[in-house]
Amino acid sequence: TSALPADPVDENYRRQVSQVAYSFVQPEHFIDSEVRHTSSLTEELGWDPIYVASNEFKAVFGSKQIIENSKPYAMAYAGHQFGNWAGQLGDGRAINLFQLETDIGLQTFQLKGAGPTPYSRNGDGYAVLRSSIREYLCAEAMHHLGIPTTRSLTIATTGKLVLRDVMYDGNPEYEQGAIVCRVAPSFIRFGNFELFAAQGDQENLRKLLDYTIEHHFPQVTALDKKGYLEFFEIVSQRTLDMIIHWQRVGFVHGVMNTDNMSILGLTIDYGPYGWLEPYDHGWTPNTTDRQHKRYRYGAQPEIGLWNLLQLANALYEIIDDQSGLEQVLDNYNIQYQEKHLDMMRNKLGFLHKDSNDQQLVTQLIQTLHLHEVDYTFFFRELQHLDRNMDTTIMLDKLAIAFYDFEQLSEPHRLRWLDWLLVYKSRIQLDYSKFLESKQFTNNDEDVVNLAFAKARSEKLITTNPKYVLRNYIAQQIIDQAEKGNYSMFHEVYRVLQHPYDEQPEFEKYYAKRPEWAKTKVGCSM
Ligand code: AMP
Ligand code: MG
Ligand code: MG
Repeated sequence: TSALPADPVDENYRRQVSQVAYSFVQPEHFIDSEVRHTSSLTEELGWDPIYVASNEFKAVFGSKQIIENSKPYAMAYAGHQFGNWAGQLGDGRAINLFQLETDIGLQTFQLKGAGPTPYSRNGDGYAVLRSSIREYLCAEAMHHLGIPTTRSLTIATTGKLVLRDVMYDGNPEYEQGAIVCRVAPSFIRFGNFELFAAQGDQENLRKLLDYTIEHHFPQVTALDKKGYLEFFEIVSQRTLDMIIHWQRVGFVHGVMNTDNMSILGLTIDYGPYGWLEPYDHGWTPNTTDRQHKRYRYGAQPEIGLWNLLQLANALYEIIDDQSGLEQVLDNYNIQYQEKHLDMMRNKLGFLHKDSNDQQLVTQLIQTLHLHEVDYTFFFRELQHLDRNMDTTIMLDKLAIAFYDFEQLSEPHRLRWLDWLLVYKSRIQLDYSKFLESKQFTNNDEDVVNLAFAKARSEKLITTNPKYVLRNYIAQQIIDQAEKGNYSMFHEVYRVLQHPYDEQPEFEKYYAKRPEWAKTKVGCSM
């Protein structure tokens, strides 16, 4: 490695660029940085634990040194932010250090928060501990939930203070600076393509497209118009699949601008995200989006489509096939309906499909909106219901998912009982189909019952996580870490590595949002 110079290098100056995909840039040298946590990703990468424990590792990921002969760079991109064209953006506080072949393929290693770049515009290039913890933990949580995402390798405090406007009280405050090392096969975004398209730079747009396909889309057959359309179709599918996963676990990204959309369909740029607690299609964690709620939970799938439309516009001239592009976008909508319904069937523990399922799901969603019901709890607790249960008993079993079950009004209680009756007969139907499909030789009802219950509960607990990074839990971790206590951070990190497992010793993290967390939103950047 070579030590980073103490003085910032002048190639970091802010500017508008043209015919440029990236700029070389020096990370800032943080003499007092300290690596606070290293994720299990090092094992997946196949890195030697001795290296991971070394001073060199700490120096590289604490931004004191860079790997010898490496040339760190920041990428230029553009984007649509909250529905409006925002022009040139770029990595304002992210710096790519190097690419490396690893046990899980070629990966790019990036520091977020290591100082200004040519794309910092009016930002300072830093990240605070609060937002870094949120990004670090959530990316790892998402990975272990089985959701495509950028990964977190390390989190370090920089030893420098950073001035921030804390949204919830409006007063600027000094906060501890931090750096997260993020890892992904590529950090290319929709916005990288939009930049060249907006500049009318077809030559570099094509180069970027060819580069992306050659390195990351081996299934595309050729670098021609047909191949480019195939590429767009894969991007569309991956984007949809990612968003269906978000809907499944109740993740709300909060800033689905096109510069935050990974071309690989990875969840990227964890800022003011949040997890659904009371089920609400209109909920957004982003305090700067409270008026229009553009990026609310229920809108995420259609925003994904809107973003794909912007990408299609950027690639329009090169692909030169309007009906082909429109077909892909139309398919997104059709597939969305199907995939969303299948996802909900899984969440409800159904083993077979039935033609009335959409109706059942719609009715459930309406009923869930009547009264505050915790999303994670509701679906996780369904495993305690069975087809022979009385609906009033079923409702009692689910009481724990309600924020104020005692206050449930009689008409709402009846609506719940109505839905549970439908659900009960639907489980019964599943049971009959199960019976047919398995062709049990011995007609012992107990055996069949047990096998069915097992299959159903398996479906429920592998679809519905028990442990998610609830907003208030992240806030408690942050409050402690800011005082130098990382024990809760370590503990929750471990819990989130097994989100679908029962972890009796950590049952305390399977808890609905407490009353105190209702109004306080610690979700600004
Ligand atoms: P985001 O909404 O966090 O994805 O950020 C939008 C744009 O602002 C991206 O180009 C970021 O790199 C840039 N940005 C955000 N925060 C900062 C910061 N503190 N310093 C410089 N650039 C920033
Ligand atoms: Mg961003
Ligand atoms: Mg950000």
